[in-house]
Amino acid sequence: MLYLSTRGHRDRKHFCEILLEGLAPDGGLYLPERYPQVDQATLAKWRELPYADLAFEILSLYIDDIPAGDLRAICRKTYTPEVFGTKEIAPLKRLEEGLYLEGLSNGPTLAFKDMAMQLLGNLFEYELARRGAELNILGATSGDTGSAAEYAMRGKKGVRVFMTSPNGRMSPFQQAQMFSLQDANIHNIAIEGVFDDCQDIVKAVSNDLDFKRQYRIGTVNSINWARLVAQVVYYFAGYLEATSGRVQATQEKVSFTVPSGNFGNICAGHVARMMGLPIDRLVLATNENDVLDEFFRTGVYRVRAAADTHETSSPSMDISKASNFERFVFDLLGRDGARVKSLFGEQLSNKGQFDLSADPAFKQAAERYGFISGKSTHADRIATIRDTHERFKTVIDTHTADGLKVARRHLQPGVPMIVLETALPIKFAAAIVEALGREPDRPAKFEGIEQLPKRVTVLPADAQAVKGFIARHCGS
Ligand SMILES: *Cc1c(COP(=O)(O)O)cnc(C)c1O
Repeated sequence: MLYLSTRGHRDRKHFCEILLEGLAPDGGLYLPERYPQVDQATLAKWRELPYADLAFEILSLYIDDIPAGDLRAICRKTYTPEVFGTKEIAPLKRLEEGLYLEGLSNGPTLAFKDMAMQLLGNLFEYELARRGAELNILGATSGDTGSAAEYAMRGKKGVRVFMTSPNGRMSPFQQAQMFSLQDANIHNIAIEGVFDDCQDIVKAVSNDLDFKRQYRIGTVNSINWARLVAQVVYYFAGYLEATSGRVQATQEKVSFTVPSGNFGNICAGHVARMMGLPIDRLVLATNENDVLDEFFRTGVYRVRAAADTHETSSPSMDISKASNFERFVFDLLGRDGARVKSLFGEQLSNKGQFDLSADPAFKQAAERYGFISGKSTHADRIATIRDTHERFKTVIDTHTADGLKVARRHLQPGVPMIVLETALPIKFAAAIVEALGREPDRPAKFEGIEQLPKRVTVLPADAQAVKGFIARHCGS
């Protein structure tokens, strides 16, 4: 399997070449040249597989430069009940007839990002050892991504993590999760500024090509293809579980609703659907930051300025532009790299938006690719958390609540709807207190983490200061 750029660059690459890279040389995102097809007979065979072996089967369709035995071992080492809390790894919970939650947030940091990041940690360690190389991961986080990356990379040979975050702006729980890590290869940098300052610093450091080369700077952001393909697995697992034991199982379709920000999670659903998994609809749910809902309703993709990006009670979906969206548009436009280059290059930089409303392709988003969307607000989240607790004795987090709210508007008789649960409520306790008048349950291993010693360095919002910090900590 070879990978190409969404902006039409001529190069084709293998999986392990793009594993440690960010963007393609022309600024595009990597996608496989074609989507491998999975037929009914194969799906039937996969029904009985444990999650780790299902992951191996799917990943091996996309990875031809890691020997099968090694890849299987990496999958089995990653998806264990010890790391993910249950033997199912992504357990399906039935709320009512035809409506399910798929639990993706029982990993080390209690958000779905662990599902992919844990695999990435093991793939990085494997590939770096094979090359005899090292990598220094530099990132910016407002919460979930940074902690998922740190818990995936802690103690891994050949990898150091330098994670910037806005000083004092993450929830106390999120700060404790990250800053309590004592591993020598994990470095927390609290920047005196906001999240945008952190992102600007990461960009500035990455644009200094000499520095980048000398210190082998890499990233783990959501455009990484390995993260995306790891997420494809739980769409298969959810489908197989929701249709298990049904007489007509092989003809049945299911729909998914996905609480969305950067379009990484739902893009994996799109890939699963393109592989032939019988998905009827992919329902995209946003919060008040509705860039993507606007596109699927109107055909206009209009990125927001930082000042127009709302701070909400589902903060992991507070985005101004969706970094993975380009992948879907590439498929939507018949894989026309030149056109994608013009839309995401010139048009977005010059006008901050593009308009596909008059393009026949826009209609295909719903008709051929199954995409529909909806938006949920703070009041919707609180009401949904309360309602779900009253009726099903289940406490859901704010992001999952956005998903469930939007999913209910799109239920269809006879088509099971699976809502992806993207975080546990303890991560966003304030909203739970507002909805239910009490603190959410805390998993035992997180008892008292706010009191643990913290390992963090505060630096000014200055790329030079961060470069200096990296340089000082790279010999060790
Ligand atoms: C990252 C995240 C999302 C958004 O996922 P995308 O892949 O960026 O669309 C939703 N919910 C939670 C809890 C997250 O951490």
